[in-house]
Amino acid sequence: MDERFCLICNASLDEIHSFEDLYAKHRTICTDCQKQFKPIRKIFRIQNREWHILYQYDDFLERLFFRYKEQRDILLAPVFLERVQERLKIMKQYQVCGLCSSDQHRLYRGFEPLIELFKPYGIEVLSPLYKTNPVKQSAQSKTKRKQIQAILKRKELYSLSNKKILLVDDVCTTGSSLEAACQLLNPQCVFVLAAHPKWLQAHASMGIEKKSSFW
Ligand SMILES: [Zn+2]
Repeated sequence: MDERFCLICNASLDEIHSFEDLYAKHRTICTDCQKQFKPIRKIFRIQNREWHILYQYDDFLERLFFRYKEQRDILLAPVFLERVQERLKIMKQYQVCGLCSSDQHRLYRGFEPLIELFKPYGIEVLSPLYKTNPVKQSAQSKTKRKQIQAILKRKELYSLSNKKILLVDDVCTTGSSLEAACQLLNPQCVFVLAAHPKWLQAHASMGIEKKSSFW
């Protein structure tokens, strides 16, 4: 069998460091790197809709997303959701819709980061919305980010079935794009891989005690 290496740090995955390693057949990262992912597993009820947040966006995730999205290290795609892969099957009950990049961004990158995150786990992410103007969120001021609402549109020829909709995103910074997408798609619920600490703080009062079906 070919030797396998951690997709994040390159350590060999065939050495047994811990009891867990013995069962780690489907693992793409080493135990040390896995420990860097610190799930917060929080649910918020916002306008009568549940937002399931897996991680708090931190330095580790920021570096990893930079490698994945900006340095185009597409091989990293499976590492973000590996920890919850067993429960992801439940997403198949939904039409999973995502906020994908503008065509310009996708062409530049050569891949669609959000779609690739879910692909290793057999979840297809649909893209029924488009952004009319390629704005890079992090480079925008808060007021400008608010305007995203105005430029997110539904693709006219993109038909969805009657299945309930799950809206997914990788990083929630201000939440304005996701809120705009909720207006357009009316999803049953929202799943976010990582939310910015400021967003978590601002929505703290909306947190609810409930077990998520996604993890
Ligand atoms: Zn590693």
